[in-house]
Amino acid sequence: MIYLDYAAATPVRREVKEAMEPYFEDFAGNASSIHAYGRKARSAIHEARRELSLFVGCSSDEIVFTSGGTESIHAAIFGAWLAQQQKRHIVTTAIEHHAVLHTLTLLEELGVEVTVVETDSRGQVSTDDVLRAIRSDTLLVSVMSVNNELGTIEPIGELVRAVKNAHPKVLFHSDMVQALPAKRIDLRDVPVDFASFSAHKVHGPKGVGALFIRKGTPWRSTLRGGSQERERRAGTENVPAIVGFGAAVKWLDANWEDHETVIRSRSRQLREGLLLVPGVSLNSPTDGAPHITNVRFIGVRADRLLMRLDLEGIAVSAGSACTAGSLEPSHVLMACGFDEVSVRESVRFSVGDRTTEAEIQETLTTVARVVSQLRNVVP
Ligand code: PLP
Repeated sequence: MIYLDYAAATPVRREVKEAMEPYFEDFAGNASSIHAYGRKARSAIHEARRELSLFVGCSSDEIVFTSGGTESIHAAIFGAWLAQQQKRHIVTTAIEHHAVLHTLTLLEELGVEVTVVETDSRGQVSTDDVLRAIRSDTLLVSVMSVNNELGTIEPIGELVRAVKNAHPKVLFHSDMVQALPAKRIDLRDVPVDFASFSAHKVHGPKGVGALFIRKGTPWRSTLRGGSQERERRAGTENVPAIVGFGAAVKWLDANWEDHETVIRSRSRQLREGLLLVPGVSLNSPTDGAPHITNVRFIGVRADRLLMRLDLEGIAVSAGSACTAGSLEPSHVLMACGFDEVSVRESVRFSVGDRTTEAEIQETLTTVARVVSQLRNVVP
């Protein structure tokens, strides 16, 4: 099997699994308990928080652990609105993950107005367009750092600084879920108020993430109950998963150069090879996140290609929900102005630091053969 869907999920590293292991059985205490088991769990969470805050450049009390990217995004946007409900306008972009767009739909039902800024044909957001969309009652701007389907890297630092210079009270959230494996993040240089992260994109476990909330940002928790996470996220902490997230970013921090070098090299090999297949065009920007390569195979339906590749033991994705053979056209590609036919012929390959040269080579050979067969057989 060749796995080329790292943007969807990454395998848990051995080091991460080993770090998590004791917290399932030996140290299975509740982190709120005062006995030794509880203290052990609490100190493990403390350590994971420290690892993540060091990795992204913030102080550890600005990190709230959550159940993943979706919850972090929801908490950031909804919690910002809860704290300042008199402000009734939010700005976002058309290429955000559904976690952002659907949270905003919910807020629209509650009377919030949302302005969706368009992007260029590669998913790049313009700072001027964002500034133009801001009104006197704008609460928040939410722009992702790296797009999950195309790999487009948004100019987040420049964008946040421009927004803050012109409108110091407007809050800024960035979905950094795909940025975590793609680029070094330093929240001291990028003055966002909120940033959302997820562990399973960086070889941590699924179902755990984090929300960065800059100190002093007006925000209210939406998940109430116990006083966990300093009353910012109620509920017994998923200790093994949080420990795994900490171990995953610790590994990444220590091995960043190797991680980046391997991904860049595999991505180059993949792109160069794919572009040699007749009738292929690159949808991703050439300067995007190296782990994501989105291409169109002209005349070949992506759902058919995906199924054929799956039978050949190669896992890729269309970058959007694919259920029972029917493919929802990607809202990201549609927003970039691709027509529906080209969207339905587009496939996302995403590599990781475990991807080997031989796997890419085999993928290229198989893709060329299957694409040619599908073009010949299927009208
Ligand atoms: N944002 C982006 C850009 C993503 O790629 C994903 C996951 O695919 C999410 C948010 C949601 O994260 P999670 O799966 O941890 O809820």
